[in-house]
Amino acid sequence: MINVRHLIKRFDGNAVLDGIDLSIEQGEIIVVIGPSGTGKSTLLRCLNFLEKPDEGHITIGDLSVDAAHARRDEILALRRRTAFVFQNYALFANKTALENIAEGLIVVNRWPKKIAHSRAHEILTSIGLADKADAYPASLSGGQQQRVGIGRAMAAQADVILFDEPTSSLDPEWVEEVLALMKQLATERQTMLVVTHEMSFAQDVADRVIFMEGGRIVEQGPPSQLFQAPEDPRTRDFLRKVL
Ligand code: ADP
Ligand code: MG
Repeated sequence: MINVRHLIKRFDGNAVLDGIDLSIEQGEIIVVIGPSGTGKSTLLRCLNFLEKPDEGHITIGDLSVDAAHARRDEILALRRRTAFVFQNYALFANKTALENIAEGLIVVNRWPKKIAHSRAHEILTSIGLADKADAYPASLSGGQQQRVGIGRAMAAQADVILFDEPTSSLDPEWVEEVLALMKQLATERQTMLVVTHEMSFAQDVADRVIFMEGGRIVEQGPPSQLFQAPEDPRTRDFLRKVL
């Protein structure tokens, strides 16, 4: 469903993404791991043009974009097919939980406000936050805020949800509820690309784990293979430090 070919992104002449090739099946759950500064966030951000890639092709469904020559309408179409969950939630502070989830439906999808709010209510119910519809982010726990962030991504009905370290900003007590919601989405076979340091989540939930270093995919495979029998010395070295 998703096909990335030879994606390159340079900052100040440095190739932070150095020729990424990646295919993702519909319903596949992929976890990306690797040392910090290795290009994981840049990969996710390039997939929906939060950063503009310098070279390469991104295909999602029937939409194919040549990164170097992407037109504005193609970029907008690509963004509609991808949803992003940020490490720091990135909620609108002056909007309620309900409004945060409904906002994209109103502004991007041009749904009438009443229908968008009704859909946002359904989502709040499915993520266990129906009673927080009218709460502002500041009055929610970190875990609740991130669940709203995930609810917003669910509302977009994107082909893939991109998670960039969704639990890294959370106090330890809130991590599990966010991972539980992500597991719920995985059970529903929502296609997901997840950058995380939560190795047990990768082990339990991922169909495939990708190890990145230096802007490249070094090794990938099912979690059983990558964690128990890594082939590349760089993967082994990384896993020794984090496991
Ligand atoms: P990771 O998410 O794996 O920690 P990043 O994708 O955030 O890594 O960053 C990869 C490299 O790109 C780092 O060296 C970082 O400093 C650099 N980088 C990221 N964003 C920018 C930017 N906007 N301008 C310049 N350099 C950047
Ligand atoms: Mg990062």
